[in-house]
Amino acid sequence: MVKAVVGANWGDEGKGKITDMLAKESDIIVRFQGGANAGHTIVNDYGKFALHTLPSGVFYNHTTNIIGNGVALNIPILIAEIKSITDRDVPAPKILVSDRAQIVMPYHILFDQYEEERLGGRSFGSTKSGIAPFYSDKYAKIGFQVSELFEEESLKDKITRTCEMKNILLEHLYQKPLLDPEELLATMREYRDMIAPYVCDVSLFLDQAIKEGKGILLEGQLGTLKDPDHGIYPMVTSSSTLAAYGAIGAGIPPYEIQKIITVCKAYSSAVGAGAFVSEIFGEEADELRRRGGDGGEFGATTGRPRRMGWFDCVASKYGCRLQGTTDVAFTVLDVLGYLEEIPVCIGYEIDGEVTTEFPTTGKLEQAKPVLTKLAGWKEDIRGIRNYEELPENCRKYVEFVEEQIGYPITMVSNGPGRDDIIYRKSQLSR
Ligand code: GDP
Repeated sequence: MVKAVVGANWGDEGKGKITDMLAKESDIIVRFQGGANAGHTIVNDYGKFALHTLPSGVFYNHTTNIIGNGVALNIPILIAEIKSITDRDVPAPKILVSDRAQIVMPYHILFDQYEEERLGGRSFGSTKSGIAPFYSDKYAKIGFQVSELFEEESLKDKITRTCEMKNILLEHLYQKPLLDPEELLATMREYRDMIAPYVCDVSLFLDQAIKEGKGILLEGQLGTLKDPDHGIYPMVTSSSTLAAYGAIGAGIPPYEIQKIITVCKAYSSAVGAGAFVSEIFGEEADELRRRGGDGGEFGATTGRPRRMGWFDCVASKYGCRLQGTTDVAFTVLDVLGYLEEIPVCIGYEIDGEVTTEFPTTGKLEQAKPVLTKLAGWKEDIRGIRNYEELPENCRKYVEFVEEQIGYPITMVSNGPGRDDIIYRKSQLSR
C-alpha cells in the first residue's frame, strides 16, 4: 500500500513527525519533490534532528529511504546529512537515489543568491538553496541527471556548453565571477564518487516493492499553498507539493496512492513572502511563536522566525481538497493550551463579500480574515492518548475545524514525540 504524507498549508505543519511515526510500519520512505530548502524537525530516541534532504524514515533500521527523481538533489548536503546522523549514533540508514534525479549544481546556489540580490525589495524570500534556478534548468532541459555523472565524455561536453551560457548571464546580468569548466568538471567527479554507492533505478525498485505488497510512504515537503500551480503564485516553491506529484516524483502509477494524509497545524505559520490572511503581529504573534512547535517557530533550515497566524479554515479546506485528502493529521494542538479564547479564520472578506473558497493571488491579497472565537481549554494536554480524555473545549475545537474543512481528522498530535498521537474515529471517514 502506498500512502502520502503532505501539507495543507505553507509547510511546517509537522509532516516530519507524522512521517517518522508512520515510518515505523513502512518499508520504504520516498522524498518525491523539493530539495534542501525546507526542513523537517524530528524528535525521537536518538535526540532532536533537523532533516533537509533525507527522508524522515532514516531513524529506523528496517526502512529503505529513497530520494526520488522529482527531488532537487544537493549531493554534498545529502552526504553531510548522512554523516550528521551517523555521528550521533543513528545506525547507517539504507539509502537509494534515483538515477533520474537531477543535481543541484554549485552555480544554481550562486544564481539563487544573485537573483535575490538583483530583485532587492521585490525578492521572493528564497532560502538561496538553488531550488528555483535548479527547476528552471530542469524544465529548460539543461539540467544534469545523476546518471550523466557516469558518462564522462558527454558530461565534459555538456559542462563546457553550460558554462558558456551561464557565463553570459554572470558577466552581463549579474557582473559576477565566471564559471571555470575545468573546476566544475572536477566537482562533478567528486559528486559522482560521493553518490555512486546509492544510485538505483528507483521506479523499477518501487514497481517490485508494490508487487511484493511493501508499505511505501511518500513524504511531501512544504504544502498546498506553495504549489506552483495551486498555491499563492508567484510566492510558491518550484516543484509541485501535491500528493498527485508523488506518483511522478517517485515513478509509480497514480492509482497506487491509496491514502493521502494531509497534515494541518492547529494554528498557522509561514515563511517567506506572500499573502497570509490570518496573520497576527506584535506580542500576540511573539507569544504563539515562542510557544509554538517544539521550542519555538523558527525555520528548521534558516533559523528565520516564522510568520504566525490563527488557524485558517479557508486555506486548509482548499489545501486538503487539492491534496485529495483521505485523512487529516491535526498537529501541535497542545501549544494552544495557554489561550483563554482561540480565534479561528472562517472566511475571507473580499470587496465586501465573504467567501469560504480560496481565491487566486490578486484577490487573496485583498482578503481580510473573518474570525470567530472558540473557548480555550487552559490545560496541558500532552500525554493524553484517548480522544475522549481531551478537555471538552479541546474536542470542540477539533470538531469545529473538521466541520469547516470537511475532511476527517483521524489523528491529533499533542506533542513532538513519536508517541504523542491520538487516533480518532471520524464521521467523515470514507
Ligand atoms: P514539517 O516541515 O512539516 O515537518 O514541520 P516542522 O519540522 O516545522 O515541524 C513543526 C515543529 O513542531 C517541529 O519542531 C516538531 O518537532 C514540532 N511538532 C510536531 N508535532 C507537534 C505537536 O503535536 N506538538 C508540539 N508541541 N510540537 C510538535
